Amino acid sequence: MSEYIKFSCERVAAEITSFEGLAELNAHRRKLLQLGLIGVDPNGIGFGNLSVRDGATDNFYVTGSATAGIQELTLADCAKVVACDFERNCVRYEGSALPSSESLTHAAIYKSDATAGAVIHCHDSKLWAAVLNQAPTTSRAAEYGTPQLAYEIMQLFKRTDVPKIIAMAGHEAGILTFGKDLEEAFAVLMRERRKWI
Ligand SMILES: [Zn+2]
Repeated sequence: MSEYIKFSCERVAAEITSFEGLAELNAHRRKLLQLGLIGVDPNGIGFGNLSVRDGATDNFYVTGSATAGIQELTLADCAKVVACDFERNCVRYEGSALPSSESLTHAAIYKSDATAGAVIHCHDSKLWAAVLNQAPTTSRAAEYGTPQLAYEIMQLFKRTDVPKIIAMAGHEAGILTFGKDLEEAFAVLMRERRKWI
């Protein structure tokens, strides 16, 4: 913990002018909200975030910080991450919303797998308990929103073919799934739930 560097971000443009995938993002968020896999916990803390890669670039659109409980997101609830500094735990972004503090976790997947076009981070305590150390798993020491977590994710991809799901041992109930688009990332999540729960 002594090396923990708090997530920070720097706004480089006040607004995002377009995000073609917003309707699809909302469609998948509705299903995740209904299943309770993203939302707001009893303490009022939002959990879960989604992102979509911007074409063939390493930039991505990500749901804004503290938006997890909102039913329908607008452009103003999303940020576009345009640069990442894993060491300093910071991102540059465009938009009026602060990017999720888990943005670098998403970035680590996009950087590691050129075919990844969308990432879902949700909280599913049953699935999490079942897949810990069965699916690729980041260590207990790698906590939410830390550079270590991003580095561990990149290491997982170097060691093995990651079957589009990652469990985060250091982030209670934390699951990541990804795919070429949100439809695939969501399908992977449903497939794993059927398999394990
Ligand atoms: Zn989380």
